[in-house]
Amino acid sequence: MTTVFIISAPSGSGKSTLTRELLRRVPGLRFSVSYTTRPPRGQEQDGQDYFFISRAEFEDRLARGEFLEHAEVFGHYYGTHTSELERAAEAGADLVLDIDVQGARQLKQKIPGAVSVFILAPSRRVLEERLRARSQDSDEVIARRLRDAAEEIRNYSLYDYVLVNREVASSVETLVAIVRATRSRRDRMENEIRPILETFL
Ligand code: 5GP
Repeated sequence: MTTVFIISAPSGSGKSTLTRELLRRVPGLRFSVSYTTRPPRGQEQDGQDYFFISRAEFEDRLARGEFLEHAEVFGHYYGTHTSELERAAEAGADLVLDIDVQGARQLKQKIPGAVSVFILAPSRRVLEERLRARSQDSDEVIARRLRDAAEEIRNYSLYDYVLVNREVASSVETLVAIVRATRSRRDRMENEIRPILETFL
């Protein structure tokens, strides 16, 4: 049974680093590559970071019901293709999604067993420092990201877990622990328990 792990965080909270480390540390996890209409940034590769497509193509795929969830973020479409979940299931892997609050809400409705984690910086000041240290964005973009962060943080109650990212190493430990604990849930263990029980009969 494939478990869906949703990870959301305001921009600058350290989500990409933590997600990358989680995937490196825990076997059997696949990262869900989303479709987007925003143009690639920096070193981003098509098919690896995102599938970069036009608005027209996105709308076509949306109309055909190809997305498990989708949202419009900063004026661009983003969506999770149903094939990501199918491929993870075929590979016997769990799926990790980096999606926003709107997507998290839709997925939780469709897949109630999905496990969601909200990552946040310890304070607005720390978030602002991180956004500035990254020096990717203008003052105007940073101001908008801080406003959007406030809005996203207000939605924290949608999530199963909240992770305050004070220090990367311990945040990675917590994320790894969430995945491991989920994998030990009884409903996920049925297939493993049965053969063990048979040895006792
Ligand atoms: P960015 O453009 O910085 O890569 O992502 C902007 C926001 O879109 C982030 O909050 C990210 O989590 C979200 N996002 C990326 N892919 C998806 C997706 O497939 N669905 C939804 N709902 N949000 C996404």
